[in-house]
Amino acid sequence: MAKAVKNPWDQLIRGYQRAEIDLPKLKAITLAQWALESAHGTSNLAKDHFNFAGLKYRDRVKDFATPVDYEAHDGHDVYCAFKNVNAFILGYWHFIAKGPYDGYEAFAEDPPGYIAHLKSKGYAGDPNYVAKVVRLLPEAQEALNEEFEGGEPLRPSRSLLGDYVPPNFEPAPGINHTVRGTRPNGLEGMIVHFDAYRIRGAGNGSEDSDRRTIDMMRSGQSNGFHYGEISRTGRVFVPANFKWNEWGYHAGPSKCPLTGRTGVSGFYVGFEMNNPGRVYPAQENGVFCPWYNSRRTEQGAVILDANGRCTRVSANDEWYRPDEVRLAEGGNIQKGWYLPYSADQFETLTNIVGYLLEKFPTTFSIDKIFGHDEVSPGRKNDPGGALAHPHQLMTMGEFRAFLKAKF
Ligand SMILES: [Zn+2]
Repeated sequence: MAKAVKNPWDQLIRGYQRAEIDLPKLKAITLAQWALESAHGTSNLAKDHFNFAGLKYRDRVKDFATPVDYEAHDGHDVYCAFKNVNAFILGYWHFIAKGPYDGYEAFAEDPPGYIAHLKSKGYAGDPNYVAKVVRLLPEAQEALNEEFEGGEPLRPSRSLLGDYVPPNFEPAPGINHTVRGTRPNGLEGMIVHFDAYRIRGAGNGSEDSDRRTIDMMRSGQSNGFHYGEISRTGRVFVPANFKWNEWGYHAGPSKCPLTGRTGVSGFYVGFEMNNPGRVYPAQENGVFCPWYNSRRTEQGAVILDANGRCTRVSANDEWYRPDEVRLAEGGNIQKGWYLPYSADQFETLTNIVGYLLEKFPTTFSIDKIFGHDEVSPGRKNDPGGALAHPHQLMTMGEFRAFLKAKF
């Protein structure tokens, strides 16, 4: 009989069962440690803040936890507050790896030795700490073998593990994108794009973003590109032949600001958002036009008058009202008017990041999520001021900070 997940301690066990950590043979002993520190998840720090180890706040865990003032059994101090069990598990191992515990990896196969090592480096004050933890080891081992109810382990539910929902990647029927190679080291990051394409039905009809998204996937096939694409409804499509360990072109000439490497398509997957791209105020008041409904030069550039206004080609083709668009600038954003991503689109993009962090835990990094405008500055302006949902604007730097706080 599978056991129901009833409390934070069950959540922790279930989360730890599916967590991939560098030293897997230390899973049971660290769970034993947390059983002792949190009295099997019943301490207030565990119940209120997913802090099962009584970890005090240090700068080195800022990507995983926020500081919280707390009265614990050993007095008042500033402790780590974690958002969910995943953040705690990652935060604990980061706390150990970056702390004064040099040489702990030498105990990868020696669980009691690992605890004795932590103790020798000042981890705990209790003189009987090692014996107390080791005594809980058999029970912890058993807990890790327990079967829990509720879905297959790689698809944690929103309620259990914070607010991440694995996206449903839909293969676009009959559409294959050109593969240029494989990613032997696994996926490292992501480039956020917009497709600068129509979002509505015929003329200026109601939104028909799923169909437009599929159109754009088909265009990617003709042009030899390779990417996934998110509709304004929140659906995400990938080419029928899509594999995470294969790559193709989506970013063109580009350079990663973090690693200095060029040709980032080889390292980072590309996701296009269905979106018209930069829009321009038209000579008619209250009208904003995308490039495909503006008068353009032979080279395709939108022609602007002395007041920076474009000439709308047709009132019956796609254009937007002032309340649909926003003027944006700052950070990576090329100053201009943009139609924001829909809330559903932004949520799906965020969930894809959660999925990739879980699927490629040792290679995928939030620090390697860039806008196309960050890797091809001057040449590209996506996602610019379209990023985040209609009621919020984010530079790419703010988006990365948002993701770090979330996951
Ligand atoms: Zn792009």
